[in-house]
Amino acid sequence: MATAKRDYYEILEVPKTATADEIKKAYRKKAIQYHPDKNPDDKAAEEKFKEAAEAYEVLSNEDKRKRYDQFGHAGGAAGGGFNGGGMTMDDIFAHFGDVFGGHFGGHFSNFGGGFSGFGGQQRAVSRGADLRVKVRLTLKEISTGVEKKIKVKKYVACSHCGGTGAEDSKSYSTCTSCKGSGHITQVRNTILGQMQTTTVCPTCGGEGKIITKKCSYCSGEGVVRDEEVVALKIPAGVAEGMQLTINGKGNAARRGGINGDLLVVFEEEPHAELIRDDNDLIYNLMLSFPTAAIGGTVEIPTLDGKAKIKIEAGTQPGKVLRLRNKGLTAVNSHNTGDLLVNISVYIPEKLTSEQKERLSNLDKSPNFQPSEEAKQRVSSRFRYIYD
Ligand SMILES: [Zn+2]
Ligand SMILES: [Zn+2]
Repeated sequence: MATAKRDYYEILEVPKTATADEIKKAYRKKAIQYHPDKNPDDKAAEEKFKEAAEAYEVLSNEDKRKRYDQFGHAGGAAGGGFNGGGMTMDDIFAHFGDVFGGHFGGHFSNFGGGFSGFGGQQRAVSRGADLRVKVRLTLKEISTGVEKKIKVKKYVACSHCGGTGAEDSKSYSTCTSCKGSGHITQVRNTILGQMQTTTVCPTCGGEGKIITKKCSYCSGEGVVRDEEVVALKIPAGVAEGMQLTINGKGNAARRGGINGDLLVVFEEEPHAELIRDDNDLIYNLMLSFPTAAIGGTVEIPTLDGKAKIKIEAGTQPGKVLRLRNKGLTAVNSHNTGDLLVNISVYIPEKLTSEQKERLSNLDKSPNFQPSEEAKQRVSSRFRYIYD
């Protein structure tokens, strides 16, 4: 790995003044020359293939090329050089596959363990489908986090055949299509010349053998419909629509392979009295007119039950009381929201004649009239809201 790096222009055999198009053409030429399909099991060719991809990665990017021209190999990320050297074959095809005009597609569809070498045997590993379930949570459960066991209906590996789909170990014969190798090699004539491609045998799906007697329990599918109880550990602070992925708890794959994932989507059950706003909770508290005027103690709901709060004499509608850390804990941090008590004041809608008389007497008192300062306060609050 620590060998001195060759100059990128030298690798692609282009002058420093080469245009983007010339660089692309030069890379295409090198990539075809050293393509692993043309050079099976040739480590030196593979190195050259990677080297060309790295050079192309830098020189095809205007910004990286500028830095390379100015600083050479040291022009990459601080101290680390350009990162292209870390590219795998998969990366190269994923990023630069287009230079081949799509002729090499289909080589990298294997799941298990990533790329296993050109020209070698590749077995397609099947994967079960992901499953999505909804889990409904109360705000109280969300506030503390909760462990839940849920029943999931899904495909599981057949216990009779162990997921193979065969009745027993003798229920196989060698695949005649691929003669047991699990893959089929084809030589195709393309515009780039003769290309050898290796594909998974469609008859046996890469197994190299076929089942002669199917499992009697699952009819050879290797999976059966069943129910599994899955334990979920739900962290505090999750929100509606968030998703928890449980790896490998989805459907089992047909005849072996890897399980899909279980995707748990959260739904929030609305609280009867508290409204969630991100990590804060909001409670709309309506005071009677006398309590707002005289002050007192009132009870409000919290997620833990009830709390008593003090109302100052002369509390105005629109005032917001903040109970620190009585909200929800954020899912990704230790920050806790507040409980905001939004105060409104109830004005009696029906009055007896006696109450009417008393109130109209009170209305004559100068302190029952809104002061300039109080008007100012309301007006500045609305200015704030509408800004
Ligand atoms: Zn079975
Ligand atoms: Zn076969």
